[in-house]
Amino acid sequence: MSFVISPQAQPSVAVAGSDQRFPVRRIFCVGRNYADHVREMGNDPKSEPPLFFSKPADAVVESGALIAYPSNTSNLHHEVELVIAIGAGGSNIDEASALSHVWGYGVGVDLTRRDRQAEAKKAGTPWDTAKGFDRSAPISALTPAASCGDAANARIWIKVNGETRQDANTHDMIWQIPEIIAALSRWWELKPGDLIFTGSPSGVSALNPGDAIECGVDGLAPLSFSISR
Ligand code: MN
Repeated sequence: MSFVISPQAQPSVAVAGSDQRFPVRRIFCVGRNYADHVREMGNDPKSEPPLFFSKPADAVVESGALIAYPSNTSNLHHEVELVIAIGAGGSNIDEASALSHVWGYGVGVDLTRRDRQAEAKKAGTPWDTAKGFDRSAPISALTPAASCGDAANARIWIKVNGETRQDANTHDMIWQIPEIIAALSRWWELKPGDLIFTGSPSGVSALNPGDAIECGVDGLAPLSFSISR
């Protein structure tokens, strides 16, 4: 096959302890998945089904990166999240078999232009400029499911300049991993290479130029990155 312009490189994520990489097809995200964070954003945790949005595949950023402060915001927020990496696709996946579709896990940060998101919520307009911007998905190296701990019951945390901002456990997710995969696969056919950011606990807060961010989920490779001055 020949293309009329050069195709872009396949976005991919590192794999812990390996030279091989995980090719990224799509990035799905769950909104409002920890009760404390739902409450801090002014919503009732049990009133609605899972809320999904997405980021472009090339929004991924490798651990260790220096990220420019994004344009068109003065309120960039961090949201630390467990990330599911899908290895086997499917539609209408049932909860009982959902974990067999998981290749592995990572920790990611759903970077958010909170000011733009607040405007979009108020106006009833899409979230793309708030959530799906360039370099909005820093993510750790992925760990195969077989060699990580229990990702569904693991401490999840983030520090900014050494100060803990979010510190929770993934068992406090409103929608657990099998429920997320089952629900998502009723909206979209999942395919190998899909990433799912599973939502953030309470404690989201602003990032500023010069900040150094470290985060992790116990049992997985950590993630660090910085915002340039
Ligand atoms: Mn999020």
